Amino acid sequence: MTIAGSPSEQSGSEVLKKTNQRAFRGSILHFFNDPQNKTETENSHLWEYIEDGCLVIENGLIHAVGHAADIMGQLPTTCPVIDHRGDLIVPGFVDPHIHFPQLDTIASPGTDLIDWLNRYAFPTEAAFQDKTHATAVAEFFIEELIRNGTTSALVFGTVHRTSIESFFAVAQRKKMRMVGGKVLMDRHCPRELQDTPESGYADSQALIHEWHGRDRLQYAITPRFAITSSDEQLALTGKLAQENPRLIIHTHLAENHEEINWVRQLFPRHRSYLDVYDQYGLVNQQSVFAHCIYLDDADLKRMQSSGATAIFCPTSNLFLGSGLFDIKKADEAQMPFGVATDVGGGTSFNLLRTLSEAYKVNKLQGQFLSPLRAFYLMTLGGARALHLDSNIGNFMPGKEADFVVLSRTATPLMERKLSQNRSKDGLPTLTEQLFTFVMLGDDRAIKQTYIMGEAAKVRSA
Ligand SMILES: [Zn+2]
Repeated sequence: MTIAGSPSEQSGSEVLKKTNQRAFRGSILHFFNDPQNKTETENSHLWEYIEDGCLVIENGLIHAVGHAADIMGQLPTTCPVIDHRGDLIVPGFVDPHIHFPQLDTIASPGTDLIDWLNRYAFPTEAAFQDKTHATAVAEFFIEELIRNGTTSALVFGTVHRTSIESFFAVAQRKKMRMVGGKVLMDRHCPRELQDTPESGYADSQALIHEWHGRDRLQYAITPRFAITSSDEQLALTGKLAQENPRLIIHTHLAENHEEINWVRQLFPRHRSYLDVYDQYGLVNQQSVFAHCIYLDDADLKRMQSSGATAIFCPTSNLFLGSGLFDIKKADEAQMPFGVATDVGGGTSFNLLRTLSEAYKVNKLQGQFLSPLRAFYLMTLGGARALHLDSNIGNFMPGKEADFVVLSRTATPLMERKLSQNRSKDGLPTLTEQLFTFVMLGDDRAIKQTYIMGEAAKVRSA
C-alpha cells in the first residue's frame, strides 16, 4: 500500500481517518516508467497492477493506493466507497497534440496535408475570432475529451486570442489540467488568419501573463509550422521562448514530403526542417514536435541531445497519407516520444482507437507495440511528454486524482473476448485484457472519467 504523508504519519489506522476522503474499489493499473517491450512476467517495478485494488482520494489528490484487503479495513466508516469492481481504473488519458478549433474539420476528405489545410482547416479556423462561437466549440470539444477518457491535452488554438481564452475559460471551469496556446502565423494562409511578428509576440506575452499557472492551466508557445511563420516571426518566437524558458514550445515538424520541400525552398540555408527551428532557439527539452516522420540521423541525434519530444499521431498520419512513424528508430536514437490524436487531421478523439492504429503502423514496419506500453503512452507517457508527470500520469500519493474507469463489458464482443483466453487462475492475463481494450475499445469502454476525484462524464453517447 502506498500512502501520502511522512513515515510517522503512515502507521496504524490514523492515516486514513481524514475528512473529505472517498475510496474507489476496482482493478487498478498504473505505471512508474516506460515498459517498452517488457512482458507482464518481468520488470514489474515499471508498473503496478492490483486485481482487487482501492484508490483513496482526499481533496482531489491521490491519498493512497493498494490492495483492497489492506485499505478497506482502515477507512473511516464515513468514507464513501465507490464500487467499480469488475472494471479497470487507470490514470486519465493525456493527449499531447490536438487542435480544438478543428472539431468541425474532423472527417473532412482532402488529398494531403496542404490541400486539407487550405480546403477545410483554415476556413473553419476563421470563425474563432468570435467569442461566442469559440466558447461553444470549446464546450463541446472538452466534453468530447472527457467522454473519451482524456483529462489533459496539449492544445492548438487559432491565431485569435479569443480562441485560446475561450478554451482556457471552459477548462478552468471544469478544473482540468490543460496546456494550450494561440497560434503564431503571419504568412501563407488566409489574411484573416494572419498575425504579425509584433502582434503575435505581444498577444502571446499577454496570454502568458493572464493564464499561465492559473489553477491547472499552462500556456504553450505555439507557432503553427515553419511555412506559416516569417523569419521575423520565428526570431520573435525564439525570444518569447528564451524569456519564458519553462513554457512548452508546441509546433509541427516533418509531417509530409510536400511540406518538407516547401520548407526547403523557404529556408534554403538551413540543413533541415529541424534546423530551421534550431536556428531560432526553438529546439530544447521544452519542445514538443508533432509528427517527426521524416527525420534523418543528424536530426534524430539533435532531438536526443536537446531532449525535445516527438509526437506520433497515427490516425492523422494514416488519414492524410503522411507516412509511418518509426518507434524502433525513435527508441534506438533515444528520442522521447508520445502518442496523440491530432484531431481534426486525426480521425478519433479516443486514445484507445489511436493506440490501436499505432499498433498497426508498427506492425507494417515489422515492429511490436506491447499493450502495456500502449497504456503507458496514454497515461504517464503523455504526462511526461508535457512535463506534467509530477502532477499527473500515475497514482503516486499527492498527485492530482484524474482517472478513468474502463468497462470490461462495454460491448457484447468485449465481454465475450474478456471472458475467454483464461489463464490458470481463471482470468485473462493482463496483457490479453489490455490488448482487447486497445483493439476493441472506444468511447463505449469509458465508463466514467474523474477529474480531481469528481465524476465528470455527463453524456454516454
Ligand atoms: Zn496537428
